[in-house]
Amino acid sequence: LLRPDGAVASTIFAEMTALATRTGAANLGQGFPDVDGPEHIREAAAAYLREGPNQYAPGPGVPELRSAVAAHQRRHYGLEVDPEREVLVTVGATEAIASAILALVAPGDEVLTLEPFYDSYAATIALTGATHRTLPLRPATEGFRLDPEDVAAAFTDRTRVLLLNSPHNPTGTVLGREQLALLAEQAVAHDVVVVTDEVYEHLTYGPDGREHENLHVPIATLPGMAERTVTISSSGKTLSFTGWKVGWLHGPAELVTAIRTVKQFLTYVGPGALQRAIAGALEDTDGRTGAYVADLRASLRRRRDVLAEVLRDVGFAPLTPAGTYFLVADAAPLGWDDAVELCRQMPERAGVVAIPITAFCTPGSATAGSLRSWVRFTFVKSMPVLEQAAAGLPRLR
Ligand code: PMP
Ligand code: GLN
Repeated sequence: LLRPDGAVASTIFAEMTALATRTGAANLGQGFPDVDGPEHIREAAAAYLREGPNQYAPGPGVPELRSAVAAHQRRHYGLEVDPEREVLVTVGATEAIASAILALVAPGDEVLTLEPFYDSYAATIALTGATHRTLPLRPATEGFRLDPEDVAAAFTDRTRVLLLNSPHNPTGTVLGREQLALLAEQAVAHDVVVVTDEVYEHLTYGPDGREHENLHVPIATLPGMAERTVTISSSGKTLSFTGWKVGWLHGPAELVTAIRTVKQFLTYVGPGALQRAIAGALEDTDGRTGAYVADLRASLRRRRDVLAEVLRDVGFAPLTPAGTYFLVADAAPLGWDDAVELCRQMPERAGVVAIPITAFCTPGSATAGSLRSWVRFTFVKSMPVLEQAAAGLPRLR
């Protein structure tokens, strides 16, 4: 985690955003919206801040948000969650991931993730002294898939936690019930706890004609899984408040208690006023918030299709993602075998910042090797930014 000179390594996302700011390039690197979240939720937060209380929130999070999370899980997925004992509010999904892994894993254990994986996973696993093993997502014509043989081989007697992520950053894959069942079967057979990062749960794009269908399946809904699953989400993605860092997790009470014990020494608690505003928004699925999320999803679907078409025209081979706000594309057909080099040159040559997919892989792994020419682009940017990218990208040809 530290560079040899003692300086703290910055994340790939911060580095790429700094590069975009320096060069004036379109920032299709770091995934955050370039517009703010809904005004009515900001107004609600402002009122809570004005009226107070502005002292420490309760350890597990404000009761309103814990209840709203439980109600949300029942309404959307039919999951029964006890807001008193089974929900923990965290400082973003990042703290939920960190506190869960720190609580559940010891040196010598193995933690299994998909590969590619979100950057905080490897760093967090490294902090525990556990071994990080990975399970490849392999590109196929219809998207990235798990191979049943890979799945069977990945679990061992030392696997303690499967740290799962669907909808998946960076590939945009949404694991369906059949793919999740492969994982669930092994988790039960090896008595593994599943910690599942579902921050993009509402950002899925049904096929043409079924645009509004939510494709996301929480692994906790599979038979025998609720009792061994910790589910994580966050308001950052669904409501476009990445800066508020209001996240949460839920799971069996004994796991949540262990995680809460760790969480209290990481940040103690997060900001109560923002938690209250998010609680109101989560409860409001039939009102303005529900309409906001539906519009966001429809508009992201359009932006996804615009970006995919631009990339295809330029000569990339993009895979249309079923979820998240990321799209990955192979640059090999365009004559670029090394996406790291391409992403280094792209700001100058094309006025675009993007991220090589190997930034989400274990350095030197077989998966990193096989995805050497793949690039991740985000499409959660306004149309003028996407148009700027569309104007510049043809210069790569
Ligand atoms: N998990 C994934 C897969 C993500 O893409 C992100 C987005 N940054 C996070 C976790 C972190 O979420 P938060 O900002 O709520 O900590
Ligand atoms: N989740 C965002 C991404 O993958 C970035 C979040 C961050 O910078 N930590 O681009």
